Amino acid sequence: MTKIRHLTILGSTGSIGESTLDVVARHPDRFQVVALTANKNVEKLFELCKQFRPSYAVMLNAQSAERLEDKLRTTDVGAKVLSGIESLEKVASLPEIDTVVAAIVGAAGIRPTLSSARAGKHILLANKETLVMAGRIFMDTVRQHRATLLPVDSEHNAIFQSLPQCFNGDLAGSGVRRILLTASGGPFRKMDLEMLETVTPEQACAHPNWVMGKKISVDSATMMNKGLEVIEAHWLFNVAPEKIQVVVHPQSVIHSMVEYIDGSVLAQLGNPDMRTPIAHALGYPERMESGVQSMDIFKIAQLNFEAPDFKRFPCLRLAYEALSKGGNMPAVLNAANEVAVEVFLTGKIPFTAIPAVIEHTMESIDGQEMVDLDDVLKADSLAREIARKWLDNQDWQEQPKGVAILRRAVE
Ligand code: NAD
Ligand code: MG
Repeated sequence: MTKIRHLTILGSTGSIGESTLDVVARHPDRFQVVALTANKNVEKLFELCKQFRPSYAVMLNAQSAERLEDKLRTTDVGAKVLSGIESLEKVASLPEIDTVVAAIVGAAGIRPTLSSARAGKHILLANKETLVMAGRIFMDTVRQHRATLLPVDSEHNAIFQSLPQCFNGDLAGSGVRRILLTASGGPFRKMDLEMLETVTPEQACAHPNWVMGKKISVDSATMMNKGLEVIEAHWLFNVAPEKIQVVVHPQSVIHSMVEYIDGSVLAQLGNPDMRTPIAHALGYPERMESGVQSMDIFKIAQLNFEAPDFKRFPCLRLAYEALSKGGNMPAVLNAANEVAVEVFLTGKIPFTAIPAVIEHTMESIDGQEMVDLDDVLKADSLAREIARKWLDNQDWQEQPKGVAILRRAVE
């Protein structure tokens, strides 16, 4: 009989959280939800608590937690309601859970995700920002505490599925020549460069193939998402940046490939639906029904591939640069990007300001080694401060059109 898994789902009200719970609900005999967390979406967490009856419901925001507690009092759901970052860390490391789905968006995920690693849990990792900010520290913690890491990000899950079963972190020893990391190219792959400065948050969030949270949708439009994924792949699979080839593949059917020294290329294909990688990671090493439809290969008919355009997507170049500089630079890149995306989503800055502020922030901060979480959090907050100040000091009405900003960023 399959062992029941006891779960904490960090970021349960988001897009990955929702897909995870959809898969979990299909297998009530295999999973028990022990803790659900969210930032401040009281209504959604309340509904999830009624459906999944967790022992803990945690909200980062204290007022939201109070409201949730009031609402739960009117029901027979006995969940203990907690708030704050320490409570997120606590439910990520409870003795009564074995598995954590790390699906908080952004840098906010790092402390709870690290806490689950320190507690030696089985971690299903969607929160790529943790690996970008603190790749070495996080991987060392996972090894030291014998935690298990399973990639949920569709590309990394595809790579994992295409690697030999006995893969132990030694890529060359496994006969791997390189990784082909696929990217859809997002909604602006073919747009006139001059038009990029005028695109709206709605346009940037309208991904051609995937339905996702807002932050990762904008990251896909700038291709920063692929940049973050290059860094994620580097740490997860111990692969040198020059052995990771980004491949623009607009259909998002091949989720990534592994090329071996004998010339074989193994790929994982499927509909663009996150329930596939989530079910793979939840059931691993067994396969589980996920609710995903069969792939209609005749309807897809064609698969296309293009080299990435670093001029159109300066964020991708900046991510490679941050990875090759190492130390604090990936954390700086990530923090500046989070600030830029947040402000872009309010409509206050043009799309093309995103790479410009990231580049400015990276240039303003000296390279430094990072030893512990404290170093990472310091690099993160310094980069946020510099990025915010720079954005505040620009006169966006007076700016020559954003193309100039884009040019500055690509030159
Ligand atoms: P989302 O915005 O839809 O959901 C984010 C979740 O995190 C929500 O539950 C929210 O309440 C919670 N959250 C937000 N800020 C928080 C904070 N400060 N403290 C605690 N909790 C907070 O995001 P998403 O699209 O589900 O993405 C989640 C993560 O998964 C991201 O790191 C993203 O890069 C990664 N990912 C997502 C997809 C996808 O298809 N959505 C695919 C691959 C990887
Ligand atoms: Mg991905």
